[in-house]
Amino acid sequence: MGIVVQKYGGSSVADPDAIKRVARRIVEAKKAGHDVVVAVSAMGDTTDELLDKANAVSPQPPARELDMLLTAGERISMALVAMAISDLGYSAQSFTGSQAGVITDSVHGKAKIIDVTPGRIESAIADGHIVIVAGFQGVSQDTKEITTLGRGGTDTTAVALAAALKADVCEIYTDVDGVFTADPRVAAKARKLDRVTYEEMLELAACGSKILHLRCVEYARRYDIPIHVRSSFSNLEGTVVTGSIEDLQENTMEAAIIAGIAHDRSEAKVTVVGVPDKVGEAARIFTALADAQINLDMIVQNVSAAATNLTDISFTLPRTDGQTAMATLAGLQAEVGFDQLLYNDKIGKVSLIGAGMRSHPGVTAKFFSSIADAGVNLEMISTSEIRISVVVAEDDVDAAVQSAHTAFDLDADEVEAVVYGGTGR
Ligand code: ASP
Ligand code: MG
Repeated sequence: MGIVVQKYGGSSVADPDAIKRVARRIVEAKKAGHDVVVAVSAMGDTTDELLDKANAVSPQPPARELDMLLTAGERISMALVAMAISDLGYSAQSFTGSQAGVITDSVHGKAKIIDVTPGRIESAIADGHIVIVAGFQGVSQDTKEITTLGRGGTDTTAVALAAALKADVCEIYTDVDGVFTADPRVAAKARKLDRVTYEEMLELAACGSKILHLRCVEYARRYDIPIHVRSSFSNLEGTVVTGSIEDLQENTMEAAIIAGIAHDRSEAKVTVVGVPDKVGEAARIFTALADAQINLDMIVQNVSAAATNLTDISFTLPRTDGQTAMATLAGLQAEVGFDQLLYNDKIGKVSLIGAGMRSHPGVTAKFFSSIADAGVNLEMISTSEIRISVVVAEDDVDAAVQSAHTAFDLDADEVEAVVYGGTGR
């Protein structure tokens, strides 16, 4: 039988009992005849606690040292999981990301995997070991420094390993039963999806659903690795992420109109007020932001006022990049000649996602009506082929999600979602 890659998140390895439970699960897969490779996250809230410690000694810790510190979290859990497996009479070997051949670029804190050279893993498998790999980390090809992949990055480690090892499936074990139509903490009657396409999952992940790391979905799509998202606390079938919306069309399979609603409270909005409406100004602004390594999300430019020929440009970005963006833009004020900069981090984004909306008129109207019915005002709007996103006040996010969830008939008859673990921190 083939190779199975499994990933266990922080809440699944939060304490010794959890680690022993995970070890039993891993051994079951081995007993079933699979070669098993496991990527583990740090125990419970370890990563947050390490970040708190770093901030306690230095408000701006050097990125290299921060990565050194954070990768320690996964080294602890990988060794403990391997020990728990050996206690069950099976042999396991743990490897750091670097030992496992996870090669990244050199951007600390959000490195991208550029290659996986799994030689050591393959020989460990050949020797009959279960392989445990520290998630969320790699080693830079250029600088040879240890890097991390960004919060939630163990998902990506798992899928990258699955691709490199040509695994049959990548199972992502977490503390909920699968991917839901909305965050069950916000929409209590959220329903579990049995299957969702890569494109829909990409949009969900990009729009704030924390169930899977965005890059892991990109990776899975590129290498066509099915991801099975399921709970490590139950034996229920979870959600399988596979297939493309193009296949849906070819098979004339009826695509669900809406897969789900995601929300995101991690962004901020910047408005550049009074930008001269002439060729090249937007390019200048966004080049400066790109040079500062800032990823933007929504961008809106108003028509310029006829009297002044000035326009406003607003965009959203991660709150964590807010200060860098404001400083970068402030440095451009004289050159570009805009009036002022506004910053608002009390915003939230609500996104409706579904492959079926491409061929279904009226989805936007219904979405906006449901948000209006909740008494919520829209500040920005953006769309893709299979998504409509709106920015609202942060305090209005829950009401908007709930109202849209009901309007699109996504509510389950009974509460389906069980959140088994995690502090939601
Ligand atoms: N431990 C890291 C985090 O909390 C990586 C992961 O869990 O995937 O973000
Ligand atoms: Mg996660």
